[in-house]
Amino acid sequence: MRSIVEAYLSDVHAALRDERGGAVADYIPELAAVPDDDFAIALCTTDGALYAVGDADVPFTIQSISKPFTYALALADHGVAAVDAKVGVEPSGDAFNEISLEPDTGRPRNPMINAGAITTASLVAGGDDEERFARVRALYSACAGRTLELDEAVFGSELESGHRNRAIGYMLRTVGILEDDPEPIVARYFRQCALRLDVRDLARMAATLAAAGISPTTGERVLPEAVVERTLGVMTTCGMYDAAGDWVTAVGLPAKSGVGGGILAVLPGQLGIAIFSPRLDAHGNSVRGVAACQRLAREMELHMLHVG
Ligand code: GLN
Repeated sequence: MRSIVEAYLSDVHAALRDERGGAVADYIPELAAVPDDDFAIALCTTDGALYAVGDADVPFTIQSISKPFTYALALADHGVAAVDAKVGVEPSGDAFNEISLEPDTGRPRNPMINAGAITTASLVAGGDDEERFARVRALYSACAGRTLELDEAVFGSELESGHRNRAIGYMLRTVGILEDDPEPIVARYFRQCALRLDVRDLARMAATLAAAGISPTTGERVLPEAVVERTLGVMTTCGMYDAAGDWVTAVGLPAKSGVGGGILAVLPGQLGIAIFSPRLDAHGNSVRGVAACQRLAREMELHMLHVG
């Protein structure tokens, strides 16, 4: 039987179903080929209750929603000071793929833009590249509650076409933020972006952050509480790129979007939200995803600064 929560989510889904604005990301050729009209919404509570409506079985790639999780892994591996030495926590006000670094330090401004995410990918501990990627995948999988697979086609497509990210990698190497050959680091960043999941997995990942690092699916602690708190802080100010101000005022939840069409949002202590709809706005954020989150936040009074 359909729960009252799913009945409500179905209403939200139906109200936004006919929104046709935006376009799929086409700068990664393989992403241009995905059906653009799928739409799913899921919620997962910190005690593991999961609700999903719409195209909830359709898989998509995590893309930039990977960034907060890899940032968290770098923090867990090295501590705040070592990570801060390499990447800042200031909103850049720039697009996600902007080639921008702090003038004095050479640091990327934050770990949610590509320059910062390539840097945090370089900080993941491990003997070799395979082991580092295995740790990244293990963390995302532990949060999702099942093993996530790599979308080889999307990975290959970005590896072939991702010249801008490669340029960012070389620039980071020039200023000494990357200390090794940028090629394998950028390739590993592309691999993390090409991990495949569905909206339920994404909601469970969001709920793991909401539960301060404990997977509501398995009960396992996957990240330290202080690391999650810092990650949520950076998501709040930087997670939606140059739309962060609009997002914080209208939705008021730490969040992260990806060009695969996913959005993950977190109500700390309570709830993880996940939306999937591949058509994107000019910032690279899912059009229906943003609209759905605005509506959920307003109607369910989820804004973290809600004052009655
Ligand atoms: N892999 C994508 C890129 O680096 C991720 C971007 C995104 O999701 N905003 O361009």
